[in-house]
Amino acid sequence: AGKKGDISREKSAEFYEKAKNYFPGGVNSPVRAFKSVYGTPLFIERGDGCFLWDADGNQFIDFCCSWGPLILGHNHPKIREKVTKTLAKGLSFGAPTALENELAELILKNNRYIEKIRFVSSGTEAVMSAIRLARGYTGRDKIIKFEGCYHGHSDALLVKAGSGLVTFGETSSAGVPKAFADETIVIPLNDKTALETAFANFKEQIAAVIIEGIPSNNGLLIQESAYIQSLRDITKANGSLLIFDEVITGFRLGFEGAAAHYDVQPDIITYGKIIGGGMPVGAYGASTELMRLISPDGGVYQAGTLSGNPVAMAAGIAQLTELRTSNFYKNLNTKTEEFADAIQRYAKAKNYRVNVLNVGSIFWFAFTDKAHIRAASDIDPASMEYYKTFHRELLNRGIYLGPSGYEVGFVSAAHSKIELEKAKRAIFESLDEVFRH
Ligand code: PMP
Repeated sequence: AGKKGDISREKSAEFYEKAKNYFPGGVNSPVRAFKSVYGTPLFIERGDGCFLWDADGNQFIDFCCSWGPLILGHNHPKIREKVTKTLAKGLSFGAPTALENELAELILKNNRYIEKIRFVSSGTEAVMSAIRLARGYTGRDKIIKFEGCYHGHSDALLVKAGSGLVTFGETSSAGVPKAFADETIVIPLNDKTALETAFANFKEQIAAVIIEGIPSNNGLLIQESAYIQSLRDITKANGSLLIFDEVITGFRLGFEGAAAHYDVQPDIITYGKIIGGGMPVGAYGASTELMRLISPDGGVYQAGTLSGNPVAMAAGIAQLTELRTSNFYKNLNTKTEEFADAIQRYAKAKNYRVNVLNVGSIFWFAFTDKAHIRAASDIDPASMEYYKTFHRELLNRGIYLGPSGYEVGFVSAAHSKIELEKAKRAIFESLDEVFRH
């Protein structure tokens, strides 16, 4: 225990300086720039199992897991083997391959909630296409999204809440036309009145309601089943579609994701992350009736040069095959629950103002003593200062979490009891440092 010195970041700093000449902010995705935590971003050299090594040779137990895809950990031998075999035959053909059938079959035969699927190359694309499908099917333009849910960076979804309770959204990025934001209604999570008001005001104009399976991009905002059911009921009653964005929760909460978790049948489901085993894959799925609308069968256009890429399909097949083994999710979820509980007990015993939230193998540290955190407004932005210190102390003790207090952590099958014990001790010590004053 006691104070730890900062890890060496010489090489990372050197790479970062170079990267700033090439990329805006020195990165190819904003959160990687470490803007909300201390120090320069770590440049990663290698991953294996639950471990990461950076360019300076620091070793970490990784709880970011590439933001979710790596449910089996890094460099899993079965994924590596299938990918290597596949890439020896060529990287891309832009023509159908049997590998697409293989991945689709693995998914559709084991998922009661979708009948047909279309592969794309990212979560953003999956959601963007799902929205288009919903609009194409209903002939309506408006969508409802929730404050605190992230659905990728397409125009329709880079919209934040306006000033009133139920208003049109305001763009949350420069470059998104106001006219687009006008088609997106943003309401708070866990608020039935706001939902009912939105439907009362815009009834026949609402194509779809979109929600993350479990909102996990702005802290972990666990919703009650009854609320999710109310989304199903109100959309059905109004001829609108319900979209579950399961880019994080798909194959994470269980093989059938949040749909099975709530036992609610959405109209469209989007996937990403885990489905590609670490390669760029996204997907959207729905009933045969709905999917008939997608080109070339129907009039809703959607395409991709690298869609269904063989190497990416291979990684997905290898990963999802492992997830089908018996008790996979039971073991992973139990392990995570015990991990989160132990930390929560420690924090409680010490009277630290921190809540360890957990669902399946997802966890989140909320620096608050609020019992229920269900809406974005339940999070105090000032609490992020605690996370900054926590993050630095954890890195100094060999634990890697996402570089923002709003990001959740993931436990993978590669995190063994021994490493979780080590991580727990490091987390206890780091919490001691956070609350020292
Ligand atoms: N939807 C959700 C729920 C996500 O978490 C993300 C990414 N974090 C996306 C969509 C966008 O996916 P991608 O980054 O692959 O475009």
